[in-house]
Amino acid sequence: AIRIRGLHKSYGSNEVLKGIDFHVDPGQVVCVIGPSGSGKSTLLRCVNRLEEPDSGEVLVEGIDICDPETDLDAVRARIGMVFQGFNLFGHMTVLKNLVVAQRQVLKRSKAEAEEIARANLAKVGLAEKADAMPSQLSGGQQQRVAIARALSMNPDMMLFDEPTSALDPELVGDVLQVMRDLADEGMTMMVVTHEMGFAREVGDKLVFMDGGVIVEEGDPVEVLSNPQHERTQLFLSKVL
Ligand code: ATP
Ligand code: MG
Repeated sequence: AIRIRGLHKSYGSNEVLKGIDFHVDPGQVVCVIGPSGSGKSTLLRCVNRLEEPDSGEVLVEGIDICDPETDLDAVRARIGMVFQGFNLFGHMTVLKNLVVAQRQVLKRSKAEAEEIARANLAKVGLAEKADAMPSQLSGGQQQRVAIARALSMNPDMMLFDEPTSALDPELVGDVLQVMRDLADEGMTMMVVTHEMGFAREVGDKLVFMDGGVIVEEGDPVEVLSNPQHERTQLFLSKVL
């Protein structure tokens, strides 16, 4: 679970998060939408402290990630993260990409790490690509490898930051299907996305951010079909 209270974050004089209260319950899929620059990525990056909050509280599985006593690496190991770019290691095979962190962080044996890697590749429909290099894969395949890599660490939750935004339209569906399968299995997920269909069908909650605040949140079907705030209406009128 993720629990955020009163989160503030500025870059210099630019206040990007202006007091965010946000939570993701276990097994929930929470989608975050909003205009460019509204603070979506910053919020997501505060969850594993890729960004340092100025004030407020961020609890991950009950652990305060801003507490200097907290073992940040241990918390981060429980959070899978997938970005817009695929961030695969270009000089390693697909299998190796899935194995390295398991070996280094979780100290798994080579045999165990490879077995888990192959199982996760099969899960995202890429069992036959284990020995390929990332450059030999399409963008959608690379993104599915990135998801399989994150899953190989057995995360408690997954954070996605616009995972399909860099993909050609015909490649988006396969990636969304993998995310949908994950949601069906009960994975806890925070998903920044422009895919309103995904948000509507898979999301348990939809959060609309604008100007560093949460303007509106609720059941995705409700928010999308009957937005209560003018800013939400304006945004949706542009994207739907
Ligand atoms: P997009 O939809 O374009 O990804 P976003 O909602 O994810 O936008 P953020 O990336 O969170 O927005 O950025 C919010 C604001 O913070 C923007 O004004 C951005 O310029 C600023 N910002 C983000 N990261 C930094 C940084 N490292 N240094 C300075 N300013 C930053
Ligand atoms: Mg962003």
